Amino acid sequence: MSEELNISYKRSGNYNVVISDSLDAFKDCFEEIFKGQNIKVLIISDTNVAPLYMESVKSMLLGISDMVCEYIIEAGEKSKNSDNALLCLKYLKEHDFHRSDVIIALGGGVVGDLSGYVASVYMRGIKYVQLPTSLLAMADSSIGGKCAIDLDGFKNMIGSVYMPLLVYENLAFLNTLNEREYACGMAEILKAGLIKNGSFYEWLIMNFDRINDKESEALTFMLNEACKIKKKVVEEDPYEEGERMLLNFGHTVGHAIEKCSDFNYNHGESVALGMIAAAYISWKRNLLSMEEFYEIRDMFVPFNLPISVDKLNTDLILNAITYDKKQVNGSLNFILLKKIGKAVIVKDISEDEIKEAAANLVVEWD
Ligand code: NAD
Repeated sequence: MSEELNISYKRSGNYNVVISDSLDAFKDCFEEIFKGQNIKVLIISDTNVAPLYMESVKSMLLGISDMVCEYIIEAGEKSKNSDNALLCLKYLKEHDFHRSDVIIALGGGVVGDLSGYVASVYMRGIKYVQLPTSLLAMADSSIGGKCAIDLDGFKNMIGSVYMPLLVYENLAFLNTLNEREYACGMAEILKAGLIKNGSFYEWLIMNFDRINDKESEALTFMLNEACKIKKKVVEEDPYEEGERMLLNFGHTVGHAIEKCSDFNYNHGESVALGMIAAAYISWKRNLLSMEEFYEIRDMFVPFNLPISVDKLNTDLILNAITYDKKQVNGSLNFILLKKIGKAVIVKDISEDEIKEAAANLVVEWD
């Protein structure tokens, strides 16, 4: 079973997103782009993914590339930093990589973002391919060319928008992803439905058991729908001048929670909490009804995502948001929901509204 989307984007071309239940077709897809080009390949991966999949990906490249190197980072968000980017750039230089050579990102969103960023700046741009292995990376981060690294613990402060030449999604990779990381991918997928497609959101809710069981047909449909939503948004607005900001639903408060918890809440969990905070403000502004707010909040539960925290310092959250790069000219672009399936950009969110929404996430357990 496989699905294929073609993404075209303003200013520089297009690439395919292939969704397949095996790695088998990767070689053909890769060869179609690079055949006869005498390329070197650097596969960037992390300490969890490389032992599982590095060798099988390398074996796919036999006969296509004369030299396949690997660069492995420690797994986890803390590796998405400028030190690692610099080390990787030096590696490329020391191994004589040129603009015609290729980077393959084999991993989740951390590897994907770091690899994309390195690819975008090495010699002002070297080719790269995304081979996402986490659900989050398949549904969201590998598509659209946004690639960023963190600075001093602040999320995505350094980055670029730089498109891959291919995204190949092998659903079989998900068999080794643990439950917590799988749930994190669901946060971005639920987000896609909430901001853009109410009927897809309803389908997700109705099919949570098939999704949690990783049923192949359900996963193929789900990823194809999520990728179509992302494709539509990034084609319209690749450089986040308007529409693409909607994808940040839940991310303003989410990034702050991620940072303030020192990444103990990972990206997907933080985004789920951030979406609840944004839905809460939407309710308080009479955009959503109270019933809709509680439905949105409670529907994270079947997907094993958090809906509350034990404690939260709302001043620290606000402080982190103030430094967030999405703060433009003193006003914050905040994404709210007008209804399930329709998000809007709001520029006049007050500090008090954010603090109240963040405080509402805290549940005092008896
Ligand atoms: P991640 O890359 O840290 O992966 C999560 C964990 O799962 C890691 O420990 C990883 O080693 C492990 N893993 C991944 N695939 C596996 C597999 N198949 N088998 C076993 N273990 C596996 O995190 P993530 O959730 O994939 O991505 C989060 C990152 O993506 C954040 O840095 C976030 O900022 C970024 N992001 C970027 C965009 C974008 O548009 N560029 C969008 C959303 C999120």
